[in-house]
Amino acid sequence: MMDSYDVIVAGGSISGLLAAREIASAGFSVAVIEEDSEIGTPEHCGGLVSMQGIQDLSIIPSSGAIQNNIKYAKIFSPSKSFELNAVEQKVIVLDRRVFDKQIAFQAQKMGAEIKVKCSMRSVSQDAVSDTRKCTVKTSEGDLLSTYFIDARGVSSILQRNREGILQSAQYEVYTEWIDQDTVEVKFDKDKYPGFFAWVIPTGSGSGKVGVAGRSINAANVLKSYLESKGEKYSIVRKVYAPIWTLGPLKNFVFNNTLVIGDAAGQTKPTTAGGIYTCGMGGICAGRAIVKALEENNDRLLKHYEKNWFSMFKREFDKMLFARRLLERLDNKAIDDIFSNISNSEIKDVSTSGNFDFHSNAITKILSTKGAIKIIRTMIGSEIRHLYK
Ligand SMILES: Cc1cc2nc3c(=O)[nH]c(=O)nc-3n(C[C@H](O)[C@H](O)[C@H](O)COP(=O)(O)OP(=O)(O)OC[C@H]3O[C@@H](n4cnc5c(N)ncnc54)[C@H](O)[C@@H]3O)c2cc1C
Repeated sequence: MMDSYDVIVAGGSISGLLAAREIASAGFSVAVIEEDSEIGTPEHCGGLVSMQGIQDLSIIPSSGAIQNNIKYAKIFSPSKSFELNAVEQKVIVLDRRVFDKQIAFQAQKMGAEIKVKCSMRSVSQDAVSDTRKCTVKTSEGDLLSTYFIDARGVSSILQRNREGILQSAQYEVYTEWIDQDTVEVKFDKDKYPGFFAWVIPTGSGSGKVGVAGRSINAANVLKSYLESKGEKYSIVRKVYAPIWTLGPLKNFVFNNTLVIGDAAGQTKPTTAGGIYTCGMGGICAGRAIVKALEENNDRLLKHYEKNWFSMFKREFDKMLFARRLLERLDNKAIDDIFSNISNSEIKDVSTSGNFDFHSNAITKILSTKGAIKIIRTMIGSEIRHLYK
């Protein structure tokens, strides 16, 4: 006799665990299967998120999950830079190894079952013809469920489309030059085409340093970045992971399968940040499933798409446009834009910015008088879309 659940979730990271928490808290049976042998490990995340975003996901991170509080963001072009004050946005750095376990604990307390070292192999809906159950084949045997959630991260979206994938490398590094209070972002189209290099401090002299870009050898590029600092460093952990930058899939619901989180393209196209937006994907999907189970009506699953898009569509459209625009600017244009940003414009972005909905901050920077002039000469009337 196969074990049977209302819902099976493949992927035990932020989106899958939050979906499971919502479903279990309404009294339905749910199992999360995770192919790795430990929740939260290997960590493939910078952990940068706002405190507000985490609270919106109904989580109060434990002190052990918070590695640092960020005060400033220093943004570099190839030869210029400016600094934003991030104090009001209450940006924190999470240790995802601890944080994800905290969500797993929440989900388990609500009644979810979590199985590690259990890999989902396939799902089929017609194997049990006289019921509307799906058969989920796993490395530990077959399971039955009414609904299936695909929360397998970028590996799932890779099977649909490889075009939006950039290669990234992120190392945990100990080195003197890391300033505990300041996140660094460096744009250089020649070195990091389509993305940037970043430093996320986890303490004084330690941090997560990474690069991503189109068709780059991320390990070599990161080595050059670290060596360019001219100081000694030790690498204590290395992560290589693909990141997705093309925005959400058109649909998240396919018969009795719901796709959530990175697997649904719910990461921000500008920064590939997904803790908040993917977490919300898990919550919206979990709540839609609860309604569908309560009313025995599959059509209610569509509420998941409707609710996620009503929160994020406008924001993601703007970020996608900003990404396309930035990809077309060369290093000189980026330097020129940076040179033209005034102190009052920097102050305005610092005080009015929202970390979780940052397209407004990007729009403000790209709408300074100097920037408009530079961009207009490069791409003409297309710029109007950004300011709509
Ligand atoms: C280098 C890097 C830095 C990042 N930094 C940030 C940041 O600073 N801030 C931010 O907000 N976001 C950041 N992100 C993005 C963020 O990590 C993701 O958006 C977020 O973790 C997505 O959560 P998820 O639950 O959708 O998927 P994932 O976290 O990708 O988890 C998918 C899970 O599914 C499991 N899985 C895969 N296949 C199977 C299978 N067949 N069976 C069972 N389990 C399976 C995997 O083992 C994994 O645990 C970063 C990403 C990368 C790569």
